[in-house]
Amino acid sequence: MNIHEYQAKALLRDYGAPVSDGRIVTRAEDAKTAAGELDGPLWVVKAQIHAGGRGKGSFKEADSGDGGGVRLAKSVQEAADQAKKMLGRTLVTHQTGPGGKQVGRVYIEDGSGIETELYLALLVDRQTSRVSFVCSTEGGMDIEEVAAATTEKILSFSVDPATGYQAFHGRRIAFALGLTGQQVKQCVKLMGQLYAMFVDKDMEMLEINPLIVTDSGDLKCLDAKMGFDSNALYRNADIANLRDETEEDPKELQASKYDLNYIALDGEIGCMVNGAGLAMATMDIIKLYGAEPANFLDVGGGATKEKVTEAFKIITSDPQVKGILVNIFGGIMRCDVIAEGVIAAVKEVGLQVPLVVRLEGTNVDKGKEIISNSGLDVIAADDLKDGAQKIVKAVKG
Ligand code: GDP
Ligand code: MN
Repeated sequence: MNIHEYQAKALLRDYGAPVSDGRIVTRAEDAKTAAGELDGPLWVVKAQIHAGGRGKGSFKEADSGDGGGVRLAKSVQEAADQAKKMLGRTLVTHQTGPGGKQVGRVYIEDGSGIETELYLALLVDRQTSRVSFVCSTEGGMDIEEVAAATTEKILSFSVDPATGYQAFHGRRIAFALGLTGQQVKQCVKLMGQLYAMFVDKDMEMLEINPLIVTDSGDLKCLDAKMGFDSNALYRNADIANLRDETEEDPKELQASKYDLNYIALDGEIGCMVNGAGLAMATMDIIKLYGAEPANFLDVGGGATKEKVTEAFKIITSDPQVKGILVNIFGGIMRCDVIAEGVIAAVKEVGLQVPLVVRLEGTNVDKGKEIISNSGLDVIAADDLKDGAQKIVKAVKG
């Protein structure tokens, strides 16, 4: 689960990390009061969406004025005007996709004078199963670009959980970033705060890009991106409360309510499968026969008729879906239950696209019988290969 920059900064503040003072605004008429509560002489107005690259992004609406989703202002009035130009508009960045994201909140911040922009991140390193620090002198840019062009400018190392964070970790980062004097001490303290919050709150990633040295020579977190382990939200109620459902794919949100493992993709073939491994194999074989999956969907081992119906509805609500492949191996799951769910769903939402069903396993004969007696226009398949070929043929001709 991801959170907004302003929420991440509030968390940073709780842990004593240096951030600017700021106010969150959802209505344009509140912007002037909010900006007036900050000192100036520089203000920054920042669109709050769950995507990076806001500064270099652009708005779809012509009357949004010049600039992207991060704008500097030299007066309270100018800050309020910029907030008004962003709220309710659609911001497109290289991370939002061409559709962009609607800006429902802007964060107005006390502007900082910048000496240098640095990069800092913490993440869970899957190789070492440890928390790793990643830092670079090349802040404010896409770290993927830095990694591709100048790998030597990135320092990365993991922390032994037995010792936890130690001052030498912080000093190693400080020297790699070219910090001196008082900044080294600030860095050692800040890295300790970041490590503590990362572990306390079950984060998956924490990115400060840029971490800056201000014109008065102090470290400050100018941007903040945090991702949390969804499986640990049960023990972090404070984090779970920060969830902004308007930022999530509506289909994925609906699926999560029914405990379905659904991820929207870009292809044209909707898939309903049980078991993550079989779902992956189904996606692979669809690609092998020349089409692209529209989603990953694992309905789980103990799916009920209601769950199957809901899953089917979610797949058909995607306008990109040109055909559906149901691929079920009935182990714990019974094929007749799946068949009933599919039929109930088709009766409820109708079927505008070809549907191929491949059933195997427990109660397979009963399942096939239910489908062939339903009078629905369903293409039966014998195995995975046959199913994939049939649905690709039905969609591509
Ligand atoms: P992102 O584009 O979504 O990553 O948003 P950031 O918060 O990282 O802001 C983008 C860029 O705007 C930063 O790299 C800075 O160069 C600039 N910026 C953001 N806040 C300030 C500020 O307080 N003062 C100044 N001078 N520039 C800022
Ligand atoms: Mn940034």
